[in-house]
Amino acid sequence: MKISSLGFPRIGRQRELKFALERYWRSEATLTELKNVACELKRTHWQWQADAGVELLPVGDFAYYDQVLTLSATLNVIPARHRVTQADGSQAPVDIDTLFRVARGRSQTGQHACAAEMTKFFNTNYHYQVPELSADQAFEIAYDQLFDDVTEAQQLGHQAKPVLLGPVTYLYLSKSLTEFNKLVLLPPLLVAYQQILSRFAAQGVSWVQFDEPVLAADLTDEWQQAIRQSYQTLAQQKPASLNILLASYYGSIAHHQALVSALPVEGLHLDLVSAPEQLDVFVNALSSQQVLSIGVVNGRNVWAADVDLIADKVTELATRLGDRLWITPSCSLLHCPVDVEVESQLITPLLGQLAFAKQKLFELNEIYQLIVGQGSATSQAIIDRCQQRRLAKAAAANQQVVERVSQLTADDFERDSPFARRIIAQQQKLALPLLPTTTIGSFPQTPAIRGLRSRWRKGEINDNDYRSQLEQVTQDTISRQLKLGLDVLVHGEAERNDMVEYFGEQLDGVGFTQFGWVQSYGSRCVKPPLIYGDVSRPKPMTVDWATYAQSLTDKPVKGMLTGPVTILHWSFAREDIPRKDIANQLALAVRDEVVDLESAGIGIIQIDEPAFREGLPIKQSQWADYLTWAVDAFKLSAAGVEDATQIHTHMCYSEFNDTINAIAAMDADVITIETSRSRMELLSAFEDFHYPNEIGPGVYDIHSPNIPTVDEMVDLMTKASQKVPVKQLWVNPDCGLKTRTWDEVEPALRNMIAAAKVLRRLS
Ligand code: GLN
Ligand code: ZN
Repeated sequence: MKISSLGFPRIGRQRELKFALERYWRSEATLTELKNVACELKRTHWQWQADAGVELLPVGDFAYYDQVLTLSATLNVIPARHRVTQADGSQAPVDIDTLFRVARGRSQTGQHACAAEMTKFFNTNYHYQVPELSADQAFEIAYDQLFDDVTEAQQLGHQAKPVLLGPVTYLYLSKSLTEFNKLVLLPPLLVAYQQILSRFAAQGVSWVQFDEPVLAADLTDEWQQAIRQSYQTLAQQKPASLNILLASYYGSIAHHQALVSALPVEGLHLDLVSAPEQLDVFVNALSSQQVLSIGVVNGRNVWAADVDLIADKVTELATRLGDRLWITPSCSLLHCPVDVEVESQLITPLLGQLAFAKQKLFELNEIYQLIVGQGSATSQAIIDRCQQRRLAKAAAANQQVVERVSQLTADDFERDSPFARRIIAQQQKLALPLLPTTTIGSFPQTPAIRGLRSRWRKGEINDNDYRSQLEQVTQDTISRQLKLGLDVLVHGEAERNDMVEYFGEQLDGVGFTQFGWVQSYGSRCVKPPLIYGDVSRPKPMTVDWATYAQSLTDKPVKGMLTGPVTILHWSFAREDIPRKDIANQLALAVRDEVVDLESAGIGIIQIDEPAFREGLPIKQSQWADYLTWAVDAFKLSAAGVEDATQIHTHMCYSEFNDTINAIAAMDADVITIETSRSRMELLSAFEDFHYPNEIGPGVYDIHSPNIPTVDEMVDLMTKASQKVPVKQLWVNPDCGLKTRTWDEVEPALRNMIAAAKVLRRLS
């Protein structure tokens, strides 16, 4: 048996890469300095993996911005607008700066040139740069980083195993610039992949890992054929010294078992954390030479693994396959923070319970020791530690919460009356005009506000001063909204630095790390909360701010909450109970807050669910199950209020065509969505469905510093009113305004309100 690794996070345990990149982008560091940081990180990460017993070290998992972008550069798939033309008319070679121009949207002269689109990588929170393919796309090796990294690892005395996306997943994730079947590009793409393989072989590489996570999806015949064709072609043409490891992850690939088992590849990786049941069918079909790599430690979570239980399960297979069995994390460790050893302020329930990327490799080492050294003192020590950890975890349970969830009845998920009745009560109470105007919640987070929060966190100002200064900010935010003439106000969220963290910090059963950063895209990282135990709300979380804001005006101020599904998806969640149960615990905590807001006189409450879609399984055939519990969790959070209390929800970066039934089942009185960039296209799903509740389709693209004109917004709302009856419509921006400045926000909202007035006259 061997210990193996599919990939390691590159950002660095103190986010060294992030800071080096940003220094370089600000011209405060040279390219050499940036490369030195990169070299140091690669060197350290390889060494850690080698120390844990990994022989074949992943290379190519390092990227200056994104590994998909690195592959595009390798293949010369670079949009024309980001290229540099030299004095003689020829194109300058692709280099690191090319990558940054693509990702950050710059042209040759440093001017704005639309960045490549960014999309979530399968069902993860990692965003990749979408390759743009033309119908006559040529592929040729144009960027050498992959090969240079192999050399770098070899010079350090390591055996390098290059890791890159396989050709089919690469094509699948690309977008075609014109209408054509992307698969026509497979043959030329395979030629380029063959060239890549030849270069690796010339470097003395023995194993290459091709990641094909697309195998976890439902694939049409055509895409299945692409898999077959790719690996047959590559096998036929590759140098004999080179072995291919085909890696799948993020879900079961058992539905493609016959296809995959017939592929002429030397090794196959299965993610047994997300789909343990797929092991048997593949083991039985393994050829006598093939390596089986099994992902047994979760690469997407932060919890210490039960290595003793894993070892028990793997022992028999290890005996059967010997060196042909590799044990690994389930997927690349990219989605995991780097090193728990730098955490010095963990709360007791988290102590000893965590394993980040570095620790996960040592867990594999422990599994190895348990299997090869059965009965030894070392083995016993490992087993004792596991048992102690499980005992400590059990002690952190909250029986009251568990009971509350188990006693839920169907009634708890439903409002008192159907929407048609509720809306009448709400209209009577709120007396809003036709096409009411509102915003999504946050207002500009100025340097002063950020500074205030950070001084308070550091203890440099006391609670009272902090409170009164935030009250001033809120007062200012309310008075600006009153001057603008918005119909439904918000308090502005100045006290929140992040919409999940703010709630996580106030919930029992949720903890935080200091350095548990995970790359989201480029230099951007997130530090998700850790849901380690049963979740409950010890005391109100937002009521003070909401009632303070409401006390300043007679107009309704919306209470502003993050929904249970979004909190769950943007956290690292425990694995010992179903996600559905965690969602319901979170929902009950949010519900208590909703009810408290209502009692405190808040008549409109928004429960944000921007991450609602993120939990969708890769296979469409499994969507229904997820949607059922996700919709239920939202309903549970909202259903505690009277008919006259209006519940809003908000979603952004969403498509609705394929989930409109679920969106309707959530039964929010009002949903606000991001629609301005699609020019109301996204509203078609609601139109076709005859969606009955109210909708605020965004008319102001908050991602852009541009100030939309009255005409533009009238135009968008006119489009909207052709899809949804005017009496159901609200007028609002796409999303929160925290990243914008008041200079942008005030004129934009002034125009938005003017547009609403124009439309009211026309209607
Ligand atoms: N209420 C949040 C805000 O306005 C919503 C953010 C989001 O949808 N991502 O910032
Ligand atoms: Zn949003």
